[in-house]
Amino acid sequence: MTNQHEKVVIIGSGPAGHSAAIYTGRAMLKPLMFEGQMAAGVAAGGQLTTTTDVENYPGFDDGILGPDLMEKMRKHSLNSGARIETQTIEKIDLSSTPFKIWPEYVESPITADTVIICTGATAKRLGIKGEDQFWQRGMSACAVCDGALPVFRDKPLVVIGGGDSACEEATYLTKYGSKVYLLVRKDEMRASKVMQERTINNPKIDILWNTEAIEAMGDTMLEQVRVFNNKTKEETMITANGLFYAIGHTPNTAFLNGQLECDDTGYIITTPGTTKTNIPGVFAAGDVQDHEYRQAITSAGTGCMAALEAEKYLQTLK
Ligand code: FAD
Ligand code: NAP
Repeated sequence: MTNQHEKVVIIGSGPAGHSAAIYTGRAMLKPLMFEGQMAAGVAAGGQLTTTTDVENYPGFDDGILGPDLMEKMRKHSLNSGARIETQTIEKIDLSSTPFKIWPEYVESPITADTVIICTGATAKRLGIKGEDQFWQRGMSACAVCDGALPVFRDKPLVVIGGGDSACEEATYLTKYGSKVYLLVRKDEMRASKVMQERTINNPKIDILWNTEAIEAMGDTMLEQVRVFNNKTKEETMITANGLFYAIGHTPNTAFLNGQLECDDTGYIITTPGTTKTNIPGVFAAGDVQDHEYRQAITSAGTGCMAALEAEKYLQTLK
């Protein structure tokens, strides 16, 4: 890797990274993608490798398995002229150009004229008993992605969290479930007033205040959730076929070491309507800069934008 210089380096390998790779590859920029090796606890290919059916990505009218979709995107990137290294980027120096990038276990950095950061975000988990057994067998961290699956139709469901996501996901799930229990660990919610009101007034949502989940239970699929009231210290069982975490995400930005402008929760700030960061030549796409939509299609869209903006930026260097 010594003295290796690249025009475009893409860090991360979800839909944003692969869209950026396809576009910069087809623009003959020979992009180099670092797809990560279990970076942030997620396999190369990103969050969709952790799910089963993806039913809302255009072009797959019968749905497609998440890992299969990501394998297709990887092949598409390679066919478009991208090169892919299965390494995680440990460190980066954006203080001067060309930018310096250190893959894990490599001493000398590679240099790059532009960097596209697509490292995604990781949904927070609680680590309750039974979580590993029932994850994706009734348990999920994405109601919008998984809520419409037949297994949840007309069944009681549980959402955990008290923020805007929890309110939004609980409301969304009322379209499919027979009833939605929202577990809030305090006696108040952090969500915006309007979201709270909408949630409280929804007749299909039952809010359980001061309540925490302690165990997911069932046979092969989730059937019950054991909960604990932290005020009364009482334990009860809720019959439920779905348990959705909405307790926040952690954007994968730690390796940036504060060099890019991020919001309070660590998401990279981009100029609205673009993927430009506060450092010219550094672009951010996908969930790492989006705490609002967090979908494969929006990530792919911003990956495309980043590629086009990087191409334009490179022209200004000539
Ligand atoms: P990610 O998919 O998060 O991928 C980022 C990649 O970058 C990861 O592989 C990570 O390991 C790697 N990485 C991180 N740090 C580094 C580093 N330092 N060096 C190198 N690599 C690094 N969306 C939908 O539209 N439809 C669905 O049905 C759907 N289902 C979902 C189901 C689940 C269970 C989850 C968790 C999410 C789901 N989503 C779905 C959301 C969707 O997966 C995300 O919005 C999308 O994957 C985000 O894409 P991304 O490219 O930003 O990054
Ligand atoms: P968030 O605001 O960080 O809220 C996370 C919630 O999860 C909090 O209520 C928190 O409880 C709870 N929580 C955290 N850890 C927990 C644990 N271990 N056990 C039980 N509960 C736990 O996250 P978010 O809701 O994903 O929102 C992130 C950002 O996106 C926010 O800025 C939000 O406004 C925005 N957003 C906006 C919209 C919208 O406007 N339509 C929709 C979604 C998200 P405590 O309050 O007790 O800490």
